[in-house]
Amino acid sequence: MKKYIGCDLGGTNLRAAVVDVEAGDVLHQECIPTQAWEKHTAVMHRMSDLVLHVIQATGIEKDNIGGIGIGVPGVLDLEKGETLFLPNLQGTWPHVPLADTVMGYTGLATHLLNDVRSITNGEWRFGAGRGADTIAVFAVGTGIGGGLVINGRLHLGMGGTGGELGHTMIDFNGPPCGCGNSGCLEAYASGPAIAAMGMKAVSQGLTTRIAELCGHDLNRITPKLIAEAAQAGDERAKDIYQKAGFYIGIAAANVCSAIGPQRIIIAGGVAKAGELLLDPIRRTVRERVHIMPVEQVEIVQSQLGDNAGIIGAACWAAQANYSS
Ligand SMILES: [Zn+2]
Repeated sequence: MKKYIGCDLGGTNLRAAVVDVEAGDVLHQECIPTQAWEKHTAVMHRMSDLVLHVIQATGIEKDNIGGIGIGVPGVLDLEKGETLFLPNLQGTWPHVPLADTVMGYTGLATHLLNDVRSITNGEWRFGAGRGADTIAVFAVGTGIGGGLVINGRLHLGMGGTGGELGHTMIDFNGPPCGCGNSGCLEAYASGPAIAAMGMKAVSQGLTTRIAELCGHDLNRITPKLIAEAAQAGDERAKDIYQKAGFYIGIAAANVCSAIGPQRIIIAGGVAKAGELLLDPIRRTVRERVHIMPVEQVEIVQSQLGDNAGIIGAACWAAQANYSS
């Protein structure tokens, strides 16, 4: 069985890994800074070099590598293998032939997939989604990404745009979202939105452990710091996670009505808060959904951590290979 390469094109780092897609094991991986200011041609060549380097480091013959899957943070043309809009990378990469460029440079068939759809694919195949045929993933970090598996297939929708759960609306009169709409889940419960709730509490002079932990420096307030305060028993910090969980729960309730998932997976850096976040999501979903057997919907934390995306991207390349 051939091995596959899973890559992650991040705003900060490029990662490439050799993956055993039958076992879901990462055999070897390397990570280098993206240096996005060098623009896309340089970044694509550095990513290609990184791929060739990880292959060399494992001592596997290139003939035994089946292809490359790249998880990309943004909007893609999956058929052409082009990037259309990458908001977190300099130059935003309009119509950049990423798949063809990496393929030309490495000689390996290359397939693109949105980064959170890659995480969804990884968690479904080898992580918290194993064994379920309909799942939804919310990846809560700097933004809120999403992904869906419906009836045993990764759901892509038109041009791969389906599954943007962070941009489902919580309140059509709500605050502006980076996408141009207002009232999206992302504007309420992303990492920066959670940090902003902590900053507000401290700047209003409310009694909270968050103020001590950040040394009264608002810039040091992160979701992680607020989680620490909550775990130490701080009521305001707990309240912030209750709110964030409630909002995600509302979006998750809508997803339950739409696709009837067996499992909802909460991934991303903010998910490390664990039960602080999961509890209010579960409660909200149970309270709000009455038209499907909601008590059977499992709401769980992701399992593969930072490797979910590269495993999912490698599996995507393997799937593309079998179906072509
Ligand atoms: Zn939005």
